[in-house]
Order: sequence, then structure tokens, then C-alpha cells
Amino acid sequence: MYTTDTIIALSTPPGSGAIGVIRLSGPDAINLTNQVFAGKDLTKQASHTLHFGLIKDEELIVDEVVAGLYVAPKSYTKENVVEISCHGSNYIIQQILNLLIKKGARAAKPGEFTLRAFLNGAFDLSQAEAVADLIASDSKASHDVALQQMRGGFSSELKDLREQLIHFASMIELELDFAEEDVEFANRDQLRALILKINSVLYRLISSFEMGNVLKNGVPIVIAGKPNVGKSTLLNALLNEERAIVSDIAGTTRDTIEDELNINGVIFRFIDTAGIRDTADIIEAKGVERTLERMKQAKLIMYMVDALQTPDELAEQLTDLRKIDIPYLAIVNKADLFTPEQKEAFAKQEVLFLSAKDGIGVEELKTALLEKVNLHHINTSETLVSNIRHVEALKNTEKALHNVLNNIDNPVTSDFLAMDIKQALHYLGEITGTVTTDDLLENIFSKFCIGK
Ligand code: GDP
Repeated sequence: MYTTDTIIALSTPPGSGAIGVIRLSGPDAINLTNQVFAGKDLTKQASHTLHFGLIKDEELIVDEVVAGLYVAPKSYTKENVVEISCHGSNYIIQQILNLLIKKGARAAKPGEFTLRAFLNGAFDLSQAEAVADLIASDSKASHDVALQQMRGGFSSELKDLREQLIHFASMIELELDFAEEDVEFANRDQLRALILKINSVLYRLISSFEMGNVLKNGVPIVIAGKPNVGKSTLLNALLNEERAIVSDIAGTTRDTIEDELNINGVIFRFIDTAGIRDTADIIEAKGVERTLERMKQAKLIMYMVDALQTPDELAEQLTDLRKIDIPYLAIVNKADLFTPEQKEAFAKQEVLFLSAKDGIGVEELKTALLEKVNLHHINTSETLVSNIRHVEALKNTEKALHNVLNNIDNPVTSDFLAMDIKQALHYLGEITGTVTTDDLLENIFSKFCIGK
């Protein structure tokens, strides 16, 4: 199915631009383009060459373009690929797409170019998924993680361990064939050693997910505290813009507002929330509920009080906060209104003084954030798992291998042994795409954009 037809899509973002790039992939990519191209005969040109010419609809000139040729298998999809760079007008792009579809190309589905690259063996499934992450990456950290995975990441490590495990699976199957004769082809000590080795790799990869996920999706941080202590003002100061509504009336920040800030290459997602307090106001009550819900998703809570509260009140609120069991940073805002004695009383606890309104203490706060979430010394060259699908498969592998270890010395259960090893192999294969289903592929590639 994937080798017979030729697909086409705009590969640059829609809208006007200096140029738009239309990409075709499939056996007829060069041939079809040649039918509407006035210039050299594209079917006779070498791979990796560029050709200037006209795109013509019969006698009508549509545009002056440059056609880039990639002859199979030396292309992204391993099929014949043509990239037509035309002027970036919606009208021209539509005309060229329609013209080539009329000639026999088919409009590509989301991610279909990358799907073909995967099916044609250009890379494995985890690398294909990393292509989507790379396109979506918006910080140095998320870019590093995606690039690492696209360039092989942990797939080669897993592939090697999987092959060794396959060897044992076949030895144990062989034992089952000779069940009457009580032979042992698979050395149990070696098998145990291999599983322990795989387990240590699995453990490392599974534990890297927390960091990988945070680097990919940003560090979620909740700003909490009673109404009017200055949470919105702080958010504005951090983001340097009038993002949240600031007002003197308690409880104006009705809903949660999210914004992102890049500190030292790491994205922090700030979640400003409705203040936590008992209230009869129905809209507010919903906001408070949501605050608690979101607090639990945060990696860190910035808890804020102001000059109207006493150190004892802060201590009391922090005691409540500790019940949620998420790291927090206590912030005392409106430091400009404090007497030195007040400051001294607060300083007995571990707090950060701030004057959000004047932006005083904001830089110190950023440093404290990096330290608090332990990201000031990240090493993105380490292999990090950032995909929830991968971590699920790794955990399932771990479970199956745990069963293998339990059954390893029991001759009665050696057929379970073979089954559990197969199960582990299945889960490992899911990551790299050695084992796939149409549903899984559909699910993964439908999240891509069209043209990728
Ligand atoms: P929120 O309800 O916690 O989001 O509080 P807001 O950010 O809406 O601020 C409530 C009021 O406190 C506003 O009038 C702010 O201008 C004021 N405010 C915020 N930060 C400071 C500060 O550092 N010093 C002083 N004096 N007032 C502040």
C-alpha cells in the first residue's frame, strides 16, 4: 500500500511566506512533477540536484519554481521524493497541489511521510516519534532530548539486549521440544546475568522519565496563596507582560492562567490560580477546587504570603501545604511595605522576600526555582526517556522479566519461562516498532502535522 501511490502535501506552514515547499513522495513523484514542469526533463536528472523551471497548467504559467530531486532510496522516505519550492502564496500553493493531484498524486495524511520512512526502514518507531518532538521543541532542553532520541537514543542499546534475549528464548523453546530428555540448552546463570543487566538498563531508563518529561513538556509550577497577596503581579513580573488580571478586589483571578518562561534553557510552566479560601461564590469555589487539583500536578509550589499576614499564619499555611507532599518555595511578597522588625520575624523561616510590583527579587527567585527543581546541572546528553508510551513499555518489560526471574530455577515452569521471555521481547519491540499494530501506528502518526 505504501509503495504504490505517490503522496503530496505542503511541508511549510500554511499562509503567505517568501517560499512554500510542496513535497511529493512515491514511485511517481519525479514523473508526475515532470508532467507539469517546463524546464529540463526531470526524469533524466541525478539525485540530489536542483532544477529551475516553470509549473504550467496546460499553457497557463502557475509559478517559477525550483524542483529538488531525491531518487530512491536516498531520501527521507527512501522513496522518490521531489520538493518544489514555489512562491509562498496560498493561491499558487493550492494551484500546484490541485494540479498534481489531478495528475494522480494523493493528498498525504498527517505524518504520512514519516510513517513511510519508518515502514521503509529509514529509522525505528522511537526515532520517528522523536521527529515530531523535535518539530515541537521550543527550548534548548526539549530540543536536546528530542535530537538525542532521533539520532538513536536508547534504541540501539535496547536492540542489542533484545537480541541477546531472543537467543535465550529460542534455546528455551528448544528445551521444550526435547522435554522428555531433560536437557538444558539455556544456561540459567547466563540468563539470570542477562536479565539483571537488562533490569539495570530498564531501571535507569524508567527513572530518567521524570526528568525527560519535564524537559520535554516544561516544569509545571503552581503559584498559590491567599487572594491579593500578589500572585498575578508576580506572574506578570516573571513573564514581563500584562498576562494575568491584576486587581485590588480579592478573588479576581477567576480561572487558571498558564504561561511559559525559559530559564537557562528549561521551560517553566507557571500556573496562576484562584486563591485558596472558603468562599460562597460559586465561580470562585470551582476555581479553588481546580487549584487543589493543579497543585497536585505541579513539580513545585510557590506559596506566597504578604505583609498582611503574620509569620505564625505563614507557618500554619505551610503545615497545610506539606500535606500535599510536593516541594514548595515560601515567598513573602510586598517586602516594600515591611518594617525591618517584620522582616526579621519572617526570616526565621526559610523564605524568599520579594517585591513583585517593583520586580525586586525576581532574578533571585528564578535562580531559586532552578535549584529547587534540581535542574541547574542537567545533562541532556544522557539518554532520557521522554515519551509516556516508551516508559509504559519499559515498565511492562520489567514486569515480564520479574516473572522470568521467579521461574528461572523451577523445571516445572520452564514453559512459563518461554512465555514470559516472549512477553518481555514483545514489550521491548513495541518501543522500536519491531512489534506494531495498525492502531498503534495510526495513533502515533495522526498526531503529526500534514506534510511531515
Ligand atoms: P493576587 O490576587 O494574589 O493575584 O494579587 P494581585 O497580583 O492581583 O495583587 C493584589 C494587589 O497587591 C494589587 O493591587 C497589586 O498592585 C498589589 N501588589 C502586588 N505586589 C506588590 C508588592 O510587591 N508591593 C506592594 N506594595 N503591592 C503589591
